[in-house]
Amino acid sequence: MERYNRITNKNQREIVLLKSRPCAWGKCRFCDYIDDNSRDREEMLTLNAEVLSNVTGEFGVLEVINSGSCFELPDETLELIRRIVREKHIHRLFFEAHWMYRNRLQQMREFMRIPITFKIGVETFDEEFREGYLNKHADFHSPEEVRRYFDSPCLMVGIKGQTKEMIDYDIRMLKEHFELGTVNVFTDNSTDVKRDQELVDWFMEKYAWLLDDPTVEVLYEKTDFGVGD
Ligand code: SF4
Repeated sequence: MERYNRITNKNQREIVLLKSRPCAWGKCRFCDYIDDNSRDREEMLTLNAEVLSNVTGEFGVLEVINSGSCFELPDETLELIRRIVREKHIHRLFFEAHWMYRNRLQQMREFMRIPITFKIGVETFDEEFREGYLNKHADFHSPEEVRRYFDSPCLMVGIKGQTKEMIDYDIRMLKEHFELGTVNVFTDNSTDVKRDQELVDWFMEKYAWLLDDPTVEVLYEKTDFGVGD
């Protein structure tokens, strides 16, 4: 599995996919990447150190992802990231966190001592679909509420049961309330959530302009950041 890459088009940065403890929620209906989680501390520390040894700091920006939230990374890995930030003159980090960690983001900013762009898996601002079907366990009621804590939402499009109206609303809310965002086009995995190809085709046509929007990254394949499998 690829765990290090350089993103050279939008928002240039290095990106690493690290291993963490099991996602504290772990019950999102569409998620099977928690299979990458581990309980073996030594294994995680060794692998994370090896992956992080690739970081050169060439863009001054590093994104760290793991199959869960940054708060589930081992403490030693977080300390190593902080050391690399200093040694490689990194001035911005990208981290991901679930809604349930919203009150701990500042703590992480203080620990790393540089600005952090916090991403959150919103999936959709349609609360019924997010909570009732996707089982996201993120009970915010509006994009404004998310914006109070997080910088960059990740949306998911092309799921059976989702509607064009929901996607229109999500993209509008993303553009109105956030400076950055990611759109993941759903691909089938081992869960019972299924891709709606007609909806994907509609989205890719109607929102083709997003591909040229420097503030939104559209991931057509889940490996489009060059990490994962
Ligand atoms: S919070 Fe993220 S890692 Fe955890 S179950 Fe949901 S999608 Fe998967």
